[in-house]
Amino acid sequence: MFEPLGDKECCGCQACVEVCPKKCLQIGTDEEGFAYPIIVDEKNCIQCNLCNRVCPIKKNKIIPQLFRKAYYGYSTDEGDLLKSSSGGLFAVIAKEYQKKGYYICGATYTNDFKVQHQFVAPDENVEKIFSSKYAQSDVANTFAETKRLLNQHKNVLYSGLPCQIAALKLYLQSTYDGLITIDLLCYGVQSPKVWDYYLNSYHKGKQPKSISMRSKHYSWKRYAMEIEFSDGTKYIKSKNSDPYLRCYSKGLFVRPSCYNCHFKGFPRVSDLTLGDFWEVNELYPNIQSDKGVSIIIPNNERGEDILKNIESSIWYDEIDVKRLKEMNIQYLKPCNENPNRRAFFVGVSKQERFEILAKKYAQNSRIKQVTYGVKKFLYRSGLWENMKPFWNLCKNIVSPKSKRR
Ligand SMILES: Cc1cc2nc3c(=O)[nH]c(=O)nc-3n(C[C@H](O)[C@H](O)[C@H](O)COP(=O)(O)OP(=O)(O)OC[C@H]3O[C@@H](n4cnc5c(N)ncnc54)[C@H](O)[C@@H]3O)c2cc1C
Repeated sequence: MFEPLGDKECCGCQACVEVCPKKCLQIGTDEEGFAYPIIVDEKNCIQCNLCNRVCPIKKNKIIPQLFRKAYYGYSTDEGDLLKSSSGGLFAVIAKEYQKKGYYICGATYTNDFKVQHQFVAPDENVEKIFSSKYAQSDVANTFAETKRLLNQHKNVLYSGLPCQIAALKLYLQSTYDGLITIDLLCYGVQSPKVWDYYLNSYHKGKQPKSISMRSKHYSWKRYAMEIEFSDGTKYIKSKNSDPYLRCYSKGLFVRPSCYNCHFKGFPRVSDLTLGDFWEVNELYPNIQSDKGVSIIIPNNERGEDILKNIESSIWYDEIDVKRLKEMNIQYLKPCNENPNRRAFFVGVSKQERFEILAKKYAQNSRIKQVTYGVKKFLYRSGLWENMKPFWNLCKNIVSPKSKRR
C-alpha cells in the first residue's frame, strides 16, 4: 500500500506514479503548484509495493561513487556557450553522444512554455534541452521510455536534477551499460504555478516564441530573462530587474522538500555533475568568464570517460576539490526557507501583480541598488571592461572574499 510522504519530504519525482502497474496513483498539484502523487484507485492495488520501493526519499540508497577530481571549463564553441546557462558543457556532451547514437533526455519547454522532460532522438536538434529552466520539470513518461529504449539495446543519456536521477535509477531497478546520467548542482526547484503566473500576468496578452531564463545578453553573471514574442517584440531584463528572476534569487517559491534535500553533497547520484562556477574569478582571476564557466565533477569511471570523449571540444582544467567544497555551501547543504515565502504565495493566490510581489519580497538593499545602477551605467557606456579590475578591488575591500557566504 502506498505510503504518501508529506510536502517536507516528497520531491515530486513521479517515480511512484510511473511504476504502478495498476495505475492506482496519479499526479496532482497542491495550492502552490507543486506535483504530488495521489491515490486514485485503492481497490485496484495488488500490494506489489513497487511505489514505495522506487521512492528516492524512502530508499535513499545512493550507490557510493568515487569522487576523486573536479574540473572547471567551458565549450570552445561560442554558439553553444551562448545557448547554455554556464560553460555549455551539457551542449558538448549531448552533441557528442548523439553522434554515438544516444537518445538524449532533458528539460525543455512545451508549446505553452511549461517545463517538461522530453527525449531527443540521435538525428534531432538537441538545442531545446539546453539551458536552465527555473520551474520543476514534469518528467512525464520519460522513466518508462528510458527503460523501453534500454531494453531495446538503445543508448540513453538522461539529464536532470539529482532527485530525478536518483528516482530514475530506482525506477529502472537494474543497471544498464547503455545509460549515462548527468545531474546538476541544485539549490532548489521552483513552483510551476508561479512560472505560469509570471508568464500569464506580467506578460499578459503576449505569445512567447522562445524563452531563455539564463540569457547572456549582458553577461553570464548578470544573466537575464529574454523572451521573444510572436508579434516580433523582445523582452530582456537582467536578473536584478526582471521580477521573476528577482523573486527566484531570493528563493521565494522553492519546493518545500528542497529545504530537506537528501541529495546534497557527496557522493553524487549520477555519472557526471555539472554546475555554475560562480567563484571562478576569486580562485583564478585571469580566466575569461563573461560567457560562462562550469564546474565538472566526474563521479565515477563513466563520468571520467565522458570528459575524455569531449576533451577536444572544451577548455578545462583541474580544480582543488577541497577549495571547491569550501567555496560554495550550496553544494553541501540544503537552502533555508525564505521567511516571506508564505506571504509571497498568498500574494500569488490573490493575483497581486508580479512587480508588486517583487517589490515587497525581493527588494534589494539600498547599497545593492546603487551598485547595480553604477554597474549598469558602466556596462552601457562601454567602460565596464576597463573598470572591472578596479571594481573587483573595491568589492574585495568592502566585502573581503574570506568573509563572503
Ligand atoms: C532548478 C535548477 C537549479 C540549479 N541550481 C544551481 C545551483 O544552485 N548552483 C549551481 O552551480 N548550478 C545550479 N544549476 C545548474 C546550472 O544552472 C547549469 O545547468 C549547469 O551549470 C550546467 O550548465 P551547462 O551550461 O553545462 O548546461 P545547460 O545547457 O545550462 O544545462 C542543460 C541541462 O539542464 C537541464 N535542466 C534545465 N532545466 C531543468 C529543470 N528545470 N529540471 C531538470 N533539469 C533541467 C537540461 O535537461 C539540460 O540537461 C541549477 C539548474 C537548475 C535547472
